[in-house]
Amino acid sequence: MVKEIQNLWPKILEELKVKVTPQQFQTWFAHIKPITLEGDNGIELRVPNEYHREWLSRSYKDIIEDAFSSVSGDVGDIRFTVEDGAQGVPSVESYSYLNKVYLFDNFIVGPSNRLAHAAAVAVSESPGGTYNPLFLQGGVGLGKTHLLHAICLSLLAKNPSLRILYLPCESFVNHFIATIKSERWEGFRNTYRDLDMLVIDDIHFISRSQRSREEFFHTFNALYNLQKQIVLSSDCSPEDIPSLEERLISRFKWGLLARIDPPSFETRIAIIEKKAALLNLYVPPSAARIIAEGVTDNVRELEGAIIRFSRYASVSPATPVEETARQVTKELVKQNVPNVSIEEILRAVSTSFGIPLSQLQSRDRSRSVALARQTAMYFARKFTRLSLQEIGGYIGGRDHSTVIHAEEKVKETKSRDKGFLQLMDEIEKNLQQGCTQPVDK
Ligand code: ADP
Ligand code: MG
Repeated sequence: MVKEIQNLWPKILEELKVKVTPQQFQTWFAHIKPITLEGDNGIELRVPNEYHREWLSRSYKDIIEDAFSSVSGDVGDIRFTVEDGAQGVPSVESYSYLNKVYLFDNFIVGPSNRLAHAAAVAVSESPGGTYNPLFLQGGVGLGKTHLLHAICLSLLAKNPSLRILYLPCESFVNHFIATIKSERWEGFRNTYRDLDMLVIDDIHFISRSQRSREEFFHTFNALYNLQKQIVLSSDCSPEDIPSLEERLISRFKWGLLARIDPPSFETRIAIIEKKAALLNLYVPPSAARIIAEGVTDNVRELEGAIIRFSRYASVSPATPVEETARQVTKELVKQNVPNVSIEEILRAVSTSFGIPLSQLQSRDRSRSVALARQTAMYFARKFTRLSLQEIGGYIGGRDHSTVIHAEEKVKETKSRDKGFLQLMDEIEKNLQQGCTQPVDK
């Protein structure tokens, strides 16, 4: 039966090729290994890692089933399994650690990551050259791991026999601690020193173990002296890694230290488009803009937002896409935000604008009250889980379109009126610190 799948698979791939873009094909299908075909009981498709498994089974299972049925006339139960070997003590075959989607081609370059990207490309072109070590510093979810994998994948694509070891720092520390027990020092040292390139992700993790730092110091020197490339990433600068010795701090800065900052609005839009294409999802431009405005400092969350958006949009196709995008953004952003009640918001706005609560909640249409009321609506959207209707109901008995309009109006005013922006920042800070004062009605 194994023979049967081996014969069928190339034809199935041909079918798939017609149905997806070349890039999607390369990303998702080219690395699948078909393993068994047990009549109509089941088909096992082995994929490089968990990420692939999740995405193939979520987004592409139908397409694959269709391809099977048109080639063999029969579809069994398709199961995706992850290749073995990604766990445990690392060997030089670090290929299994690498996410094949994290290519340079799939990385969007903008002002916030231009230097890091250029340096990563340079390292992939001439490892052991000027940028040694390359140290990438940036907050969570900003693309450090992506660039590290891209360097490895690009080098391995050109020369599969290169001895490249990529691993999370945690694995290095665990391996070191295991070696203290096993005393297999020779094997340990060969693993890390007999290499063309060593890539350690999240090196700040090394602060946990003084003896690992000592060992890493020697590993670093051995590789560096042989002009072998070292690439490191960290969520903070070398100086800020707790208890890191001066001699390591200075070595980390011998080559190039490149920072990655949160992406700009334009970059976020481009990332949404790229991710949507890779995941085979459709995100209309108006929805992309709303998501990019709301999810600002973590690309991983941006990705989560797209996925959630498409799920919600398919469940309730009648809801306007803008509303769905707002909902998704709110949910994601709110996970990091303190819980603020509508009463607190009304109190804070009332105090800051000097307008009595009763007037804020009335139907009074005078202009001075309008902006305060819109401000309250804006914060209610930002900080509460209330629906548009509920917010409208609380604040002057308005309908949901008034609330949407209010949000847009406030954003627009914020962007052109510095005084207003300052006032908004103050209110927001007070709300987050929970220090709004009750006022007389
Ligand atoms: P970090 O290691 O800095 O925490 P990751 O490299 O894991 O972040 O990135 C988180 C997610 O965001 C990944 O899916 C990655 O592909 C994506 N990502 C980050 N920056 C970019 C970018 N500039 N272009 C495309 N995708 C990006
Ligand atoms: Mg990472």
